[in-house]
Order: sequence, then structure tokens, then C-alpha cells
Amino acid sequence: MNTTAQPALNATHDPALRSWVASSRHDATDFPIQNLPFCVFRRAGSGQALRIGVAIGAHIVDIDAAAGEGALAGLDPAVRHAIVGQASLNALMALGPQAWSALRLALSGLLREGAPPLPAVLVAQADADYALPARIGDYTDFYTSIHHASAVGKLFRPDEPLLPNYKWVPIGYHGRASSIGVSGQCFPRPRGQTRAPGAVAPDFGPCKRLDYEMEIGIFIGAGNAPGEPIDIGQAEQAVFGLCLLNDWSARDLQAWEYQPLGPFLSKNFASTISPWVVTLEALAPYRAAWTRDGADPQPLPYLDAPQVRSAGAFDITLEVAIETAAMRGAGTPPARVSLSNFRHSYWTVSQLVAHHTVNGCNLQAGDLLGSGTQSGPTAAEAGSLLELTAGGKQTIRVAGETRTFLEDGDSVVMRGWAEAPGRPRIGFGEVRGTVLPALGAGT
Ligand code: CA
Repeated sequence: MNTTAQPALNATHDPALRSWVASSRHDATDFPIQNLPFCVFRRAGSGQALRIGVAIGAHIVDIDAAAGEGALAGLDPAVRHAIVGQASLNALMALGPQAWSALRLALSGLLREGAPPLPAVLVAQADADYALPARIGDYTDFYTSIHHASAVGKLFRPDEPLLPNYKWVPIGYHGRASSIGVSGQCFPRPRGQTRAPGAVAPDFGPCKRLDYEMEIGIFIGAGNAPGEPIDIGQAEQAVFGLCLLNDWSARDLQAWEYQPLGPFLSKNFASTISPWVVTLEALAPYRAAWTRDGADPQPLPYLDAPQVRSAGAFDITLEVAIETAAMRGAGTPPARVSLSNFRHSYWTVSQLVAHHTVNGCNLQAGDLLGSGTQSGPTAAEAGSLLELTAGGKQTIRVAGETRTFLEDGDSVVMRGWAEAPGRPRIGFGEVRGTVLPALGAGT
């Protein structure tokens, strides 16, 4: 049991480690040997069974192929059974941190320079089709950026932007798992009820204020039994890893429906995650102290612990870019519209897990928690168009075009990466999603 205040570093984090996979040695790669994130994939167009993969440079280690080559023979049989012939990460997630760590060490050993190269187990990422990395039983979305909560609250409730519970309770709601898709997801613009300002009755039709939300997704590992809360000191051991999450949001539906029970159809039509899950162990060198302003309420004891204060935050840079249909046609790369960082979060991952379970609620392997939109303290760090356009009152530039909210054909591309002095940069790849015209559009 890890009781130290700082996440432990080990041989797999050594900045001097290099892999025999040449593409992993480029400074620009998201996937040096120190990262080793997991996905579920198959070779595109192959009809292969889905299988687990591990990123290295521009390639994927095909776990089933590695097992076929005898490369995983040294693993504990329970770990091998949880990853070979598996179409999801759930069985591995359920094994817990000791197994994850043993697997990471073994993969690092297989891939490092000096080990016998195994080119037959590699698939180019460009040749892969990805699936959701886990069967997501339940999805909960939090609201951990005080900058986002304040800015959105000002638009929805000018007289009381930040409700009094915000600084005491990690605010969240139960979302919908069925409509979560992996990067590449395309979905029709949602339709629903909206009410124009001053109108008595709502209209029905396609959403006019479609937005994205830049979030971190948190995959639960072993979870907890019903009635047995996860202590804040052990909370990170219940987390398998992090991914990128775009929590698409229909702002006009949201404004009409959200009281008194919170978001519903404005959120549950689509949510998109990156194929890659970066483990907490990989992120250990990129942690940051978590602080709470002395003028604000300090967390209740069940949400506080020395390791929360010393290294509870994650220093992960988050970028949002938009690619319009015209840009795609012209081959123009996605244009950045904001840049923020997960370290600004008002609540930590560990606090979310401790809070979610404190009433006895059980989390299960593969459950997904969303961090909430990660807006930073300045306007340029806003993680949604709602904030960047001041509620649609001003436009932003996207290459040669302007936007208030998303238009049909727009793709949103989010990226995330972590850096630390003297260490390689590690990344999350990207999460991309595209808005299609509403069903029955024009009728
Ligand atoms: Ca959200």
C-alpha cells in the first residue's frame, strides 16, 4: 500500500530509457517508452477480433500477437489471462495497481533497447481502428473547474453565478454511458426543446447552440463493494488511468431543461473519448501540488489527505482545435481555439473518487468519471465555446471563418500532454468528433 506523499517513481520512468521502436525516440511523439498507454483496437478492415494494444511511438504493440510470440510468458498467469484475447480493458482494470505495475514493467522490458526486437507484434497506428477501451457500466460527470463554473453560472444565473455548495461539494451528476464513443465519433446534431428569451412556450427543432467541453476522463480500476467507501488516502489506487473526454453539450436545450434536476438531453446524445488510457503510474512524474485558497472553505476531512496537498493535481496541458468542413476540404490543419491545464482543477481525482463513494455508492471496473470542463483562469483558457463567445454574444476566429457555436461538418480535436524538466513529454493522442446535420434537417 502506497502511503508516501509523492507517487513512486521506478525504472519505467527513467528518462534515459529508449526503445528499439525508432518512432518512439522522436521528441514530438506522444508515446515514448515512459508512457505505454493502453487501447483496444483491430487492424483496419481486417475483421480481426478486437484486442488490447499498447502505444509505442507511431505503433501499437498487439498484445495477442505478443502472446503468440511467447513474449508474455513471464507474466503472472492472472495478468496474462486479463489481457490476452480480451476485447476490453475491464479484466485488467479489475486486477488493481500491483498487477498494472507488474505489466508496465514487463512491457517496458520488452520494448527497451537491448531487448530482442519483435517487429511482428507491431501495428502502425495509422492502420488501426479503435474501439472504446472499456465496457463503461456507469458514467458520472463532475464540474471541477471553478473558472468554468463561475463563467457558466454568470451566463445562466447572473445574480448568483457560483452556488453556495460549490466550494464544499464536488458537484456531479449521473450521465449516460450508452452514447459514449471513441475518437472518430460522428453524430447528428441533437434535436429538442428550447425556449427563446421572453417566450412562454418552447420550440422544437435542431439545437442552435451546440458546444464541446474539454474534459479529462477518469477510468476506475478495481472499484469498491457496495457500502464500503474508498478512503481519500487510497482513492488513487482505485483509478486505472486517464483519457481525453469531449462532453458535447447542447446549450439551448440545457438552459431550458436543467432546473431542477440538472442536465439530461443536452448532454446524453454523445460523448467522445480518446482511444488511449494513460495510467496513473505513467503520470507519476507529472504531478503537482494541490492548493485551496486560504479564503475559501478547506475540504472536509474525508476529502483531505497529505498526498492530496503534496501531489494531488496533474500537470496536463489541454488543447482544443476546430476543423471546419471547408478546412478539411482544403487540407488545412485544425486551428487551436484554446489551451488550458488540468492542474487548475478545484477538486482532485482522488477527491472525486472519495466523494463518489462516501455514501456507499459502488464504483466498478471500467466506470468513467468526467472531470468537468477544464477552463483555466484566463479567458483564452476556456474549455467551451459558451465561455469563449460569452454565451454566443461574440464570435471567435477559426482559420478564415468565424464561429459562435458549432456548425454542421465541424470536427473538434482535443489533445493533452504532460511535461516536466529533464523528462520526456508524454501525451494522450487525440480525441476527435464530428457534427453531422440533424435528422430530418430542413423539414
Ligand atoms: Ca461536462
